[in-house]
Amino acid sequence: MVQSYKKTPKLQTSYDTIVIGSGIGGLSTAAILAKQGQKVLVLEKHYTPGGFTHVFKRKGFEWDVGIHYIGEMQRETSILKKLFDYITDGKLKWADMGEVYDRIVIGDTQYDFKKGVGNFKKQMITYFPEEEQAIKSYVDLVFKAVKTSKNYYISKAISPIWNIMFGKILRNPFFKFSDLTTYEVLSKLTTNETLIKVLTAQYGDYGLPPKKSSFSMHASVVRHYFDGGSFPIGGSSQIVKTIDPIITEAGGTILVSADVQNVIIKNNTAVGVRMMDGSQLYAKYIVSNAGIMTTYDKLISKKVVERHHIKKQILKVNRSVSHASMYIGLNGNPDELGIPKTNYWIYPEKGDHDSCVQKYLDDLSQPFPLVYMSFPSSKDPDWSNRYPGKSTIDIITLIPYETFDAWKDKPWKKRGVDYEAKKEEIAQRLLKEVYKQLPQVEGKINCYELSSPLTTEHFTNYEKGEIYGLDHSPSRFRQTFLKPRTPIKNFYLTGQDIVTAGVGGALFSGVLTTMAITGKNVINNI
Ligand SMILES: Cc1cc2nc3c(=O)[nH]c(=O)nc-3n(C[C@H](O)[C@H](O)[C@H](O)COP(=O)(O)OP(=O)(O)OC[C@H]3O[C@@H](n4cnc5c(N)ncnc54)[C@H](O)[C@@H]3O)c2cc1C
Repeated sequence: MVQSYKKTPKLQTSYDTIVIGSGIGGLSTAAILAKQGQKVLVLEKHYTPGGFTHVFKRKGFEWDVGIHYIGEMQRETSILKKLFDYITDGKLKWADMGEVYDRIVIGDTQYDFKKGVGNFKKQMITYFPEEEQAIKSYVDLVFKAVKTSKNYYISKAISPIWNIMFGKILRNPFFKFSDLTTYEVLSKLTTNETLIKVLTAQYGDYGLPPKKSSFSMHASVVRHYFDGGSFPIGGSSQIVKTIDPIITEAGGTILVSADVQNVIIKNNTAVGVRMMDGSQLYAKYIVSNAGIMTTYDKLISKKVVERHHIKKQILKVNRSVSHASMYIGLNGNPDELGIPKTNYWIYPEKGDHDSCVQKYLDDLSQPFPLVYMSFPSSKDPDWSNRYPGKSTIDIITLIPYETFDAWKDKPWKKRGVDYEAKKEEIAQRLLKEVYKQLPQVEGKINCYELSSPLTTEHFTNYEKGEIYGLDHSPSRFRQTFLKPRTPIKNFYLTGQDIVTAGVGGALFSGVLTTMAITGKNVINNI
């Protein structure tokens, strides 16, 4: 059972591994190690476990923060599905989102992304009949790019000696795709800018528009959803609930409200962690799931960071964009209100994605370059058992962290009326989009709340409220330090920054980190 550090629970005298952060990367690492017989202590700063997979409740509603849909859960042969089954003993169940997982809305025109790659192609060709060849070549390239990724990621986990021998062979085919931007690849296939705009409409899933993002990241997201989207039955909180027993049965514990101040390092070896209250906990291995920036800015001493020239490496990567999320509670169940399962991606009619983003960043009163709408209560078949007569909508858009600079030193919930007014201004703009897409919900809204980048910073420690950890530019994928092993002995990294953003990427980081710690090919077990 998840316990609170504040209630001074009885802990073991020592653990095999301490994991800092209970995001899906931390949980996956902890559960795989537990399956190998390790006693693992997971320390989570927030009062709720799960990192971005956590849910929160207010006014009789429940909202999911960082899960709107996951791909590959309907395909039994997928490694991600097998991995979720492995770390939950098959207890986590998934609901299929149905035929259309994403609906792209550009101005007044809609384009549906249909489940099944054949259906996807057919649908796109219906919208763009003259682009049949380009669409087919595009899908082929997506598969080709994704095929090179397994070896690339495995190269992050193999021993340094094997890396010297085989690293390049494993990585080079991947670089052929990851070195190119998404736009560079697509513009070679077609000159039809509307088609490019539609095909790259899921860029919100990784945060960077096509002229800035790596094609490998784009391809992995597109491929991930080709088999449709799924949602955890019972909501995202089921993820921690089903992983926790695996960790506990092996003698481990997940502790919330457990804020780690820093990692204790002696003779360049990590031996434990110091908590914010000054107490110390020890283990043979320490793993950070807190993200690269937080780890090296806050958890590792400056002296150690300098000794290993880590700052120089960090300068080669950037933080991803920050966002605002609006959580809406409605009166009426999803069927009554006609709320769909399909996600809506809404874009301005004119301009490509990159120029829409730039225009908005130059002047925030310009249209949002992207509005994403998701309907968790419709996706979860168990929702109405838990929350009868109620529905929810989540909306996300891009907001620069600097918009809220003035309030960054003020405490959560006490940032004052100006802060609330700023949020309300954004909320009203987003509500207009809701009513435009779903006019039937006007008058049915019970409550709403907007989170700002400061909220993300407060709860997850991402210093600039970044939505996806590091951004997914071509150069990110060239950085060899984004891997489980660090220059500090017995200190490892896990989570989205060593693979990619997305629950799938962070989940898989657990495989890489446990491979690096144990030296075992845990993929075989999975
Ligand atoms: C709004 C939003 C929507 C998203 N939608 C989707 C989606 O639909 N599908 C999808 O696949 N992905 C989605 N994602 C991405 C996905 O949620 C993340 O990529 C993934 O969950 C990140 O997992 P992680 O393990 O890297 O760590 P995180 O979830 O970032 O967790 C890191 C944890 O470390 C903790 N921590 C930090 N510092 C300390 C400290 N000092 N002491 C103790 N604990 C600490 C934090 O509190 C946090 O809980 C979304 C993300 C966001 C933000």
